[in-house]
Amino acid sequence: MSNANIEKLLAAQKIDKERLQVMQNLEKSKVKMELDKAKQTIESSKNALLQLESDAKSLQDNYQKFAKLVADTLAQMEKAQKSQSADADLYDEFLSKLTKAESQLAEIERRIAQKTNAFKTTSMEVAKSSAMLKNLTKMFEDAKAATAPKVQSLEKEFNEKVKGIDEKLLAKYRAIRKSKGNDIKDVVVPLTMDNRCQGCFMDVPSALVNKIKTDGWVTCDECGRIIYQA
Ligand SMILES: [Zn+2]
Repeated sequence: MSNANIEKLLAAQKIDKERLQVMQNLEKSKVKMELDKAKQTIESSKNALLQLESDAKSLQDNYQKFAKLVADTLAQMEKAQKSQSADADLYDEFLSKLTKAESQLAEIERRIAQKTNAFKTTSMEVAKSSAMLKNLTKMFEDAKAATAPKVQSLEKEFNEKVKGIDEKLLAKYRAIRKSKGNDIKDVVVPLTMDNRCQGCFMDVPSALVNKIKTDGWVTCDECGRIIYQA
């Protein structure tokens, strides 16, 4: 059958796919992959820093608690000494309290030092990754700029090819391409011999099949592609 609109659109689609390929090559390039990886590394390192900060804060709070316990116990001891009301048992109790609290303090200090070291190391990693990110961003921007003329010329060619096409059909094509981008290669697909959409292979209801015959095209209920009669 002759369907000038669809024929023109199919020719334009070929050009559009070339443009998508150029853009996809850029997206899949090594520099883009490294760039994404660097972004992820920085992101997770920054989260790790926040976690370390919050851990250190709770350790500090805990430290204060035990430090206060030591101070209070010492004050109680002093008071007991002054009033001479203390006996050996009471001193033993004070001593046991102090020993426990002091060993807790030492343990907390050890853990704070650990967190501090981890914080330093991670901060250094962030600084290193940030420098790398800057370089990779520049490299990716350069690569993008290098493909820009090709993309522009394909866009121009596409616009030439779609001149005179039914506005509604073209608007539909552009809307689908815009929403799906590179996720689908063909926006315009033929109806198969057994009345399926060649994009998603779902059955096309007979009402729509009839509509293809009268209007030349319909959009697929399932995947949204434009279906035409081959
Ligand atoms: Zn479909």
